[in-house]
Amino acid sequence: QLSKRLEQVAAYIQPGARLADIGSDHAYLPCALAQKKLINWAVAGEVVKGPYNKAKKEVSYRKLENKIEVRLGDGLEVIHSDDRIDTVTICGMGGTLIRDILQRGVNNEVLSRKEKLILQPNVGEKTLRTFLMNNQYKIINEEILEENDKIYEIIVAIPTDETIQYSELELTFGPVLLMNSSSIFKLKWTRELEKLFYIKEELKKSKEVNSIKLNRLDQEIDQITEMIK
Ligand code: SAM
Repeated sequence: QLSKRLEQVAAYIQPGARLADIGSDHAYLPCALAQKKLINWAVAGEVVKGPYNKAKKEVSYRKLENKIEVRLGDGLEVIHSDDRIDTVTICGMGGTLIRDILQRGVNNEVLSRKEKLILQPNVGEKTLRTFLMNNQYKIINEEILEENDKIYEIIVAIPTDETIQYSELELTFGPVLLMNSSSIFKLKWTRELEKLFYIKEELKKSKEVNSIKLNRLDQEIDQITEMIK
């Protein structure tokens, strides 16, 4: 049984996909998909020995060795060109880490610019969207969901020849999410607003009030307030 978060990620994977799940931990996502015969084949990548071993164990326990290969390595380097990967999932990490993994994949030409990316950053969504825009990936879908009192975003992107230009608002809030403006979206940004108000009060208490920082905070607060009203 997958978590609600990974279930949502799985929903964006085309049946018959050849998947690379990077930072797979227990390999729950590829195992669930392979067991339901929803993927053709998968590589589960892990950079840390502990999770790598857990993934190996899970795959062998479920007798899925012919469907999932667990590989130890940093980010996308576990992908070989003859794997014919068409879908990459990177979930449950910070947006900056996901961005760095993708950037190395672009630099080393591991990404063939055909892969669909399904990304689930825990924080730092704006950094990730900016990377996607600058590398000609188009965001075709986004999800926001709540599980165990945490709010998660999922970003689905495909390579495109078009020049992609997202506004500051779209980069911050998500081009798809801000169109839908769901109750979870409002909850996420209401919580964010509370955090910013707290930071502002703390900043005002400090001996030397940094007016540049305060100004920037006020701008952020105004932007969010406008978005959720
Ligand atoms: N993807 C799973 C999920 O969403 O439930 C597991 C998320 S877990 C919090 C993050 C995993 O990413 C850890 O097991 C960590 O070892 C792995 N990881 C972090 N940096 C990595 C990298 N550069 N390459 C591969 N795996 C990485």
